[in-house]
Amino acid sequence: MEHVVIVGASLAGLRAAETLRGADFDGRITMIGGETHHPYDRPPLSKRLLSGEWEPDRIALRKPDQMDGLDLTWRTGARAVGLDVESRTVLVGDGTHVEFDGLVIATGADPRTLPGQHAHDSAHVLRTLDDSLALRAEIADGGKRVVVIGAGFIGLEVAATARGLGNEVTVLEGAPAPLMRGLGAEMGAAVAAMHDDHGVDVRCGVSVAAIAGRHVELADGTTVDADVLVVGIGVSPAVDWLDGSGLTIHDGVVCGPDLGVGHDGIFAAGDVARWHNPLFDEAMRVEHWTNAAEQGAIVGSNLIAWRDGEPTRAYEPVPFFWSEQYHHRIQFLGRPAGDDEVCAVAGSVDDRKFAALYGSGGRLRGVLGLDMPRLVMPFRKHLEQRISFDDAVDVAAELTS
Ligand code: NAP
Repeated sequence: MEHVVIVGASLAGLRAAETLRGADFDGRITMIGGETHHPYDRPPLSKRLLSGEWEPDRIALRKPDQMDGLDLTWRTGARAVGLDVESRTVLVGDGTHVEFDGLVIATGADPRTLPGQHAHDSAHVLRTLDDSLALRAEIADGGKRVVVIGAGFIGLEVAATARGLGNEVTVLEGAPAPLMRGLGAEMGAAVAAMHDDHGVDVRCGVSVAAIAGRHVELADGTTVDADVLVVGIGVSPAVDWLDGSGLTIHDGVVCGPDLGVGHDGIFAAGDVARWHNPLFDEAMRVEHWTNAAEQGAIVGSNLIAWRDGEPTRAYEPVPFFWSEQYHHRIQFLGRPAGDDEVCAVAGSVDDRKFAALYGSGGRLRGVLGLDMPRLVMPFRKHLEQRISFDDAVDVAAELTS
């Protein structure tokens, strides 16, 4: 293995490169990235960068000298448009081909858009540094009517930041509560209450019928006026470039337990990778920071193992995400099932400080904390041990006693 190509120059790709160098791989590593920037941290894009508290240099994932030390060959502003696994070649948008011995697919995901959103002359999505700066320029001075479609992570974090800058903010969500898929209805409603405290109008169970000029028309016949429109309705894994490659694509690149894609020396990592997680007995694709970082590191070490003819490692994590909204920190460890039993174990929703356990089939599946970090993280080892829900309630009682 003399040349590793990493397609996708963000967190997962960078971690793969660092792991290869950490394992004394001294061959060539080429990073192909569609954006013109070197890898940066995305969580601040909807928070401190968007608010203007931080500038772009603050979110670089590595300092220039650290990046130089990795000795990477950069192809930034270059999108991969094809993969030929027989000739082991990546086709780049400018018509060039890059041959590889080892390949990491870390192309992430692209924001979904609403039909007609471009009828609004100030419609935004938020995925990249440039997206964040463009939105920031419009909301920085406050006083705008900002309408956010989608009460997921992007929608809620943008709502909190825009409100903090003195804008009038309305959030429109199709589901009965924010963050439904992640937290369920009851805890989603608790998050909605937090936004209500800060004067954000969160309207759930509404359906956008049309976007006409600066008006968002809802299916119930009402209209919401928007100076600025932000669409945060989820993402689609960036797999178009893999059409015709022979890789199995099904809501992401389908991987084996070690994140290999079924061809020698080709692995996937981050938002784009779907694999079966035996710990939760579920095929999943996880769109959070920790997953990208951990999978990047695993595929880096698995490439080395493949080169050396040694066994590769399976990836069997407890997923984790966090979100910050109005100086509150939401953390979730585990994998909610949607129809989980939810049991509050500390604090109270009214105080906007609580912890809750999620379980199904008698087993603990997750732990949610709002400003309760000391109650969330201790459960990692219990989730790894597949603890029962009843035992988890006892553990929570011990932790709070
Ligand atoms: P998301 O978390 O999947 O949330 C999208 C929300 O929009 C969902 O509640 C969805 O409801 C709703 N929705 C979908 N179509 C809609 C429509 N036509 N009208 C109204 N609501 C609609 O995605 P996101 O907020 O766009 O975030 C994008 C990505 O960035 C995700 O991968 C997310 O994990 C990541 N991110 C993560 C963090 C974090 O971990 N703190 C922060 C920011 C971004 P349904 O579920 O019912 O479709």
